[in-house]
Amino acid sequence: MKNILLLGSTGSIGISTLDIVRTFPDQFSITGLTANENIDLLIEQIKEFNPKTVVIRNKEKAGELKNRIGNKCEILTGDEGLIEISKRGNYEILVSAIVGFAGLNPTIEAIKQKKRIALANKETLVVAGELIIELCSQYNVELIPVDSEHSAIFQCLKGENKNNIDKIILTASGGPFLNKPTEELKNVTVNEALNHPNWKMGNKITIDSATMMNKGLEVIEAFWLFGLPKDKIEVIIHPQSIIHSMVEFADGSIKAQLSTPDMKLPILYALTYPERYSYHGVRTDFKLLNQLTFFEPDFDKFTCLKIAYEVIDEGGVAPSILNAANEVAVEYFLKGIIKFNQIPEIIRYALDKIFNHQRATLETIFESDFRTRELLKKKLN
Ligand code: NAD
Ligand code: MG
Repeated sequence: MKNILLLGSTGSIGISTLDIVRTFPDQFSITGLTANENIDLLIEQIKEFNPKTVVIRNKEKAGELKNRIGNKCEILTGDEGLIEISKRGNYEILVSAIVGFAGLNPTIEAIKQKKRIALANKETLVVAGELIIELCSQYNVELIPVDSEHSAIFQCLKGENKNNIDKIILTASGGPFLNKPTEELKNVTVNEALNHPNWKMGNKITIDSATMMNKGLEVIEAFWLFGLPKDKIEVIIHPQSIIHSMVEFADGSIKAQLSTPDMKLPILYALTYPERYSYHGVRTDFKLLNQLTFFEPDFDKFTCLKIAYEVIDEGGVAPSILNAANEVAVEYFLKGIIKFNQIPEIIRYALDKIFNHQRATLETIFESDFRTRELLKKKLN
């Protein structure tokens, strides 16, 4: 039996993780759940999975939660509650599925507890990649990617010698605006941007997919996770999202990992690695797939992808500035305050204005995140 602490249980990855736990009741149990503010769903999850402790991050919701569940489990609140629950260490696997920068601190605490990290929260590696990789090696921690592309590469690399990698090829669906002319991007609505062709995900990552910043973040994530120079990380558009990513080796041979797109598969793999469980929840019928197609990404149309590659060269806390600016820009786009094509403009503005400390320590990362948010909130309000 493996005990799981699930951060972000009410989100898209959180719900899929619980679906896996429900499927394998003899293999997995839940020791902790956390949510930002969706107490209705959290209460359902508490009743079904009986965690010892939960965190409701929004403190205003704590009273109501307490009234409704009584003493069924311990309730912690706020960002400090997230850190505290990770520090408890009464679990074998942390599923890090909070969205955004908020996932960083509790993930670090779980690494210090020497727990396996099933990492969905890509922002953790984007803002603090070097630090996280160092900590994982210092504490001898298994960092298993949940992001489907990185899970695919991780699986393709099993049994291979890293020196034999020629390049990794990250596939991208291209999002809802793949075929929209650049000049029309300024007029797209929030609903159009939220209408992802292949994946049902949280709002932030869905907008990131529409701008292709999601792929940019994933390039940075791969850079740290697999320790390859950026010119060995290629992005290819593959609208069907059947091939989740590929690795090309020195001899020209290519390995790919494929399936019907469903996050339950990379989640399950991160929980069971290096084993594979018998699971029939997601299957792929090749007779029903009429074609797999591939295109080069348009870096001029999807500027966010270009900026993400540039930020790797800038180093220091530039990825942290990029991430914070993107989080603010996406939030303001979702609220209808800025237009879709302003998202990359705002990110560029922040990268120009905020000082890039070349030493990315936890302190400079937090500082640049804070400064970027302050700067942009002042500018946009
Ligand atoms: P989501 O918005 O559906 O869920 C986010 C979860 O985090 C919710 O439980 C929410 O309550 C919680 N949360 C939000 N803000 C918080 C805060 N400030 N503090 C604490 N908790 C907070 O997001 P998602 O789509 O499940 O994505 C989660 C993470 O996984 C993201 O980093 C995303 O990039 C990554 N990811 C998601 C998918 C996917 O298919 N959804 C695929 C790959 C990677
Ligand atoms: Mg992905």
